[in-house]
Amino acid sequence: MSPRRTRRERSGPPAPVPGPERLESWPDGDWVVRQQPGAGTAKTYRCPGCDQEIRPGTPHLVAWPADGVNVGIDERRHWHRACWQNRLRRGPQRGVPGGSPPRG
Ligand SMILES: [Zn+2]
Repeated sequence: MSPRRTRRERSGPPAPVPGPERLESWPDGDWVVRQQPGAGTAKTYRCPGCDQEIRPGTPHLVAWPADGVNVGIDERRHWHRACWQNRLRRGPQRGVPGGSPPRG
């Protein structure tokens, strides 16, 4: 008798994911992220991370909230890859470089 470890069966078969989209879990929620090869882009987008333009031919990614059932194309955001990865660091908070916080 050999001891077997019981596998945890996931409920249901793994759903085949059409396209290169994948789900990413972040502290600010779940996002569907799709890699966008530079060759496939023909428009200029604006990256919400750095507020710079993503010119055609630039590899980037498209992200939209995973919990959005009816997410329109307008809800999708085009990001530089680095900006997407670092977006939580930048955040809305304004850091004061090298300065002590004012106390009054
Ligand atoms: Zn950017």
